[in-house]
Amino acid sequence: MDNYEKLRESKIVYEYINDLLENGNFEMREEYSEALKTTMGVMADIYTNTHILMKDNKEERGLLNTELNCPCCFRDVIISDLITYGYLCEGCDENYYLCEGDLNYEWYFRDKNKDKLKEDVLLELSYSKDEGNVVIGTESSSGAKYKCNNVSDLANAVECYAKSYLTYDNNETYYIEVWLTENDREQGNGFRYSDVYTDKEKAIEAAKELIDTNGYSFVEVVKENPMVSVFCTDGETEELISYDKYYNKIYKVSHEELNEYIENWTNKEEQKFDYDLLYCEDNGSYIAVDNYEGECYVEEFETEAQAVFWLNTNIPAEQIQFNVISKDIIEKVYDKVKVGVKEGGSTNEM
Ligand SMILES: [Zn+2]
Repeated sequence: MDNYEKLRESKIVYEYINDLLENGNFEMREEYSEALKTTMGVMADIYTNTHILMKDNKEERGLLNTELNCPCCFRDVIISDLITYGYLCEGCDENYYLCEGDLNYEWYFRDKNKDKLKEDVLLELSYSKDEGNVVIGTESSSGAKYKCNNVSDLANAVECYAKSYLTYDNNETYYIEVWLTENDREQGNGFRYSDVYTDKEKAIEAAKELIDTNGYSFVEVVKENPMVSVFCTDGETEELISYDKYYNKIYKVSHEELNEYIENWTNKEEQKFDYDLLYCEDNGSYIAVDNYEGECYVEEFETEAQAVFWLNTNIPAEQIQFNVISKDIIEKVYDKVKVGVKEGGSTNEM
């Protein structure tokens, strides 16, 4: 635990005990409340000492900064050196509970992660009371669904979506997901290794070693922000998945539109839509067109997952069509990619 975590956790323990004593609304034995007050005193000591350590340390000093402003002088405030308060203005030498710009969401509940968003975001969010879920997406994605029965679920869903799908100006990070047994794979019970890698190759090496030495059923290397798998293996087949074609360019269109697209390409006519990667349903099978490099490759697949998988990766179509790539890998990639698939077509009336 680093000093920031120590500061945060002692503050959280303090606040919760304080809340229990002040607002608990139940009878408590005298010795219990005394013991809790003693614990609060211990937390206050830990907090103060940690604050001093951090303030004296050049590297940790910055972690005390906030982006909130003093209500008096509007200078940036830092995290208070007193556990009973929230913030401290060093200019005014004044402690505050809340500050300008605070959404009543105290620093210790916030994530230390302050990555800046990379681009403008317009989220669409729809909550269904009957179904007890919320769907969050951008205008160009089909959205991710979360269970949602109350305001707290809603807030968590937005946070979860933001962390999984929005892009940040940070360095690339990768983690490894592992499925222990065949059964876990079927149930979708993977678990995430805590190690985080900044180097893709190192993550892939680590993943291969994990499956070799532990005999796991399946491992996957996942890139974060936005979340996409870059490598997966079942111990026999290894797939390096290239997302160079970036999934938010995949469109699902009607059969007519797909034919028109191919015709326009053949006749060197201008395309009505700026599509590079598109597919349509055709009597139970799926036709996909990859015109990412202007070659207009056309392939037919049995399932939608296969079509999307092919459009999204650099893997040859026949490996998908003839089941060289396992169905699991295709389904797993499809599950992640389908969020970004756009519904194309006949929306040219503005
Ligand atoms: Zn001030």
